[in-house]
Amino acid sequence: MRRLEQTQAQYRSLRLYATAKQLAQLLSQAEANELSHLDFAGQIAQHELGERTRSRIIRHLKQAQLPAHKLLEAFDYRHQTTITKRQVNALLDFGFIDQRQNLIFIGQPGVGKTHLAIGIALKAIEAGYKVLFRTALALVQDLELAEMKGELKKRLSQLAKYDVLVIDELGYLPMTKQSRYNLFQLINSLYEYRSIILTTNKDFTNWGEFFHDDAVAVPIIDRVIHHSHIFMLGGESYRLKQKTTT
Ligand code: ADP
Ligand code: MG
Repeated sequence: MRRLEQTQAQYRSLRLYATAKQLAQLLSQAEANELSHLDFAGQIAQHELGERTRSRIIRHLKQAQLPAHKLLEAFDYRHQTTITKRQVNALLDFGFIDQRQNLIFIGQPGVGKTHLAIGIALKAIEAGYKVLFRTALALVQDLELAEMKGELKKRLSQLAKYDVLVIDELGYLPMTKQSRYNLFQLINSLYEYRSIILTTNKDFTNWGEFFHDDAVAVPIIDRVIHHSHIFMLGGESYRLKQKTTT
């Protein structure tokens, strides 16, 4: 027993915490299965690596601050027929993240934009990517606060640490000139460096209007659209459908 505890302590000092914790079970399994020394050595490594991956994913999931748990598996393509399962599945090799491309979901309220954004974000997190979810409004407030503290640069570089930034509901609410400028700075710092998943109720032809057609609008739109997969979602609101059928 004492020997076991000593060994566990040694594993802990090597920061092999998962192994330290499960050592007794790993040992008895190895004995029961008559593992070779090499197999046992391999199993310890496997166990530690597996637990680290698991805890990293849990950490990334917390950091992402997703507003709800929306699974792609729960998305009903019979209701939303303007995007196919095949199109969505094609995104799940995450080539779009590796190639720093953006996803843009455009459509009226209730058509499933946020559901798809969260569902894809969850899969990306499971695949090991770091994601942050923000509504456009929260993001703009966040940047404004940073700007007031003279820390905009610092904040922008913190936001660029995520592989994917989800910006939800761009275009719903008006923004001040300063906000638009800050947003531009953000988009500029992510351009060809990180991926954005954007949801908006405004189609690009209305974006100029939303951004008041000022000098900042065109470069924002330009940078977001360049290297992006654009999905125009039609159909009726899922919320309304639920109301009328229940
Ligand atoms: P949007 O962001 O386009 O306004 P949401 O993604 O928030 O819409 O969808 C509204 C609600 O309806 C959410 O609860 C979402 O999970 C659900 N929903 C929307 N479209 C679908 C769909 N095709 N299948 C299943 N649930 C859906
Ligand atoms: Mg939404």
